Amino acid sequence: MPVKPIYLDHHATTPVDPRVFAASIPYFLEDFGNPSSLSHEFGRRARDAVERARKSVAELINAADPREIVFTSGATEACNLAIKGILAPNNQRIDHIITSAIEHRAVLDPIERLAREGVQATILKPDSLGMIDPERIEEAIDDRPTLVAIMAANNEIGVLSAIERIGRICRARGALYFVDAAQAGGKIPLDVQACGIDLLALSAHKFYGPKGIGASYVRREVRRRLRPILDGGGQEGGLRAGTVAVPLVVGMGEAAAIANRETAEESARIARLRDRLESGLAERIPDLRRNGHPTERLAGNLSVSFPGIDGDALLLALRTIAVSSGAACHSADPRPSHVLRAIGLDDDLARATLRFGIGRFNTQEDIDCTIEEVARVVLELRRRRGIGLG
Ligand SMILES: *Cc1c(COP(=O)(O)O)cnc(C)c1O
Repeated sequence: MPVKPIYLDHHATTPVDPRVFAASIPYFLEDFGNPSSLSHEFGRRARDAVERARKSVAELINAADPREIVFTSGATEACNLAIKGILAPNNQRIDHIITSAIEHRAVLDPIERLAREGVQATILKPDSLGMIDPERIEEAIDDRPTLVAIMAANNEIGVLSAIERIGRICRARGALYFVDAAQAGGKIPLDVQACGIDLLALSAHKFYGPKGIGASYVRREVRRRLRPILDGGGQEGGLRAGTVAVPLVVGMGEAAAIANRETAEESARIARLRDRLESGLAERIPDLRRNGHPTERLAGNLSVSFPGIDGDALLLALRTIAVSSGAACHSADPRPSHVLRAIGLDDDLARATLRFGIGRFNTQEDIDCTIEEVARVVLELRRRRGIGLG
């Protein structure tokens, strides 16, 4: 029987924490009511569970009021809702969106659509470490109604944005501020109030919750200026019509509650594993190149490139480790990652890149096996190509 590979792809998705699964089971079975059916006990129990989950998600990002949390199908929907739905003060249309070249497609694609419809899009380039300079954002803001859309943490190179500084700039200059926190949520402390955030997107399956559920944070003051994508039964305060996915919402709430209690300690442990992986690989593989910022990054992230190695051959040989490469994750799109290209990697080097994402259930043994396996494969591929033989 083939051995199960070591899972090191936690930026793509995480396993559901068994505590999350256990918390959601009753809401598939006995407490299956529709939270809008308040005339009976089934509906009321479901409603109470949804409201408890809303509270723990609000706590995860320090929202002032749980009513600022709107459950969606995931971060993609939350990004679309924010970008396509928000109006400027006086209900004016947003004329200008400022974003970065390393955003997720869930942000870049809606912006591109609006750009085709006449909205101006300013797409800022990061520096070679993947950092967006907040001053460049400040310079880009003009007198038009403006939305700034910046991710809290990048899904490929793990880089953390200066979201608090950017928030101060947006406040001072009267721009609306949307943060894609799909990678940051449940991993680093987030405070929407301290950061002056108007809109924020979360995804449960990135922090040990179920797939198919996420949330939009909608600051109270902008709520009336947000137009929903879906019209229907008026659920979620009219911002997200459709029967609420109660078991998934309960799962997201439990995942947030666990993160609220455990993230600080967990990040320290995961960062130690990541540093062990990085130094272990660097010791064995000459001219290994790390992508992204050395310190301003997610604890579990390590993106490394192997000059002179064929990326496809590398992935093919790494059978026992589940990681992502620098090729786009969609097989329909053969171009290498737009993030790696934005920080200056050429196509070959971007393809010869591995993204490791370490998570809650990884052990030191996983890391040590990974170091040995990656080093063995890379050195073997180099030997075959006659590179590195000196
Ligand atoms: C995963 C991810 C998304 C999309 O989230 P889904 O819940 O899968 O739709 C958006 N942005 C970033 C940065 C992500 O990592």
